[in-house]
Amino acid sequence: MAEKPKDAPEACPGTQSDNAGKASACAGCPNQKICASGQNKRPDPGIQEVKWRLASVKHKIIVLSGKGGVGKSTFTSTLAHGLAQDQEKQIGVLDIDICGPSMAKILGVEGEQVHQSGSGWSPVFVDDNLSVMSVAFLLQSDEDAVIWRGPRKNGLIKQFLKDVDWGDLDFLVIDTPPGTSDEHLSLVQYLSQTKIDGAVVITTPQEVALLDVRKEIDFCKKVKLPIIGVVENMSGFTCPKCQHESQPFPATSGGGAIMAVELNLPFLGKLPLDPRIGRCCDEGKSFLTEYPDTPAAIAYQQVVTKILEYCNGKKDKEELVHR
Ligand code: SF4
Repeated sequence: MAEKPKDAPEACPGTQSDNAGKASACAGCPNQKICASGQNKRPDPGIQEVKWRLASVKHKIIVLSGKGGVGKSTFTSTLAHGLAQDQEKQIGVLDIDICGPSMAKILGVEGEQVHQSGSGWSPVFVDDNLSVMSVAFLLQSDEDAVIWRGPRKNGLIKQFLKDVDWGDLDFLVIDTPPGTSDEHLSLVQYLSQTKIDGAVVITTPQEVALLDVRKEIDFCKKVKLPIIGVVENMSGFTCPKCQHESQPFPATSGGGAIMAVELNLPFLGKLPLDPRIGRCCDEGKSFLTEYPDTPAAIAYQQVVTKILEYCNGKKDKEELVHR
């Protein structure tokens, strides 16, 4: 991936390119000396350290969304709870949404402290087989704003990936900020020497959300991040009292399913709105455990099953696309 520092001119050829520091665009760039010396071309040793650290993690799933407010963190937590239903499996959740970390609250471990030992940071345990690491544990209070610029964010993501002592994990689910930002680039760069199963892309049905999701998918293609599939969240609402069905976010252009067909991507399912999901998140409870027989919980279970099938190699992308 071509690295381009924030203070580099628009026509920067990339710090890893053969022309780094020598191209006409480099004249006057504050990085010219270091780029011309070739120092930037040395791979970051952190990439190797991340590889060693995550060698004990069997599967890595990244959760992405094109825009905020589509329920990405809710999905991440419910997916983690769904995977953790198998008591034989160890699940970890890594929250790299540095400016809006919500995983600690949603998983019910807000205010917990991260402990450091000789082997690294210990994640906080939600259950015997479910642990989480989030920047929220490092903040003084819930209301602390995290205003960090690119290099600091990059450093923290590297630290999260190489210094958290997860132990043996079956699944690491990584919650990311919305859109495509420094965090995503850093994440993909530091995971480049490890095997990532792929990304699950969350959208809502309306075209305004799908537009941003297409950009997210384009990002995945550019950085060669496999896509496990697309999930359409907030897809319809059935009133729990009168059973009337409505579409709060109408799929004016066909919704996530049609978009997935157009882009030849697996469509993992539609998740209906249910106010009890939000309540469970606020209370740090698992919706799948609290309301297992609701249409939303059943839809979630089907999505979890498809992701498991993909990660375990029982279904490849083509089979998921065409079923
Ligand atoms: S010196 Fe050239 S390659 Fe290096 S950052 Fe500046 S423009 Fe990019």
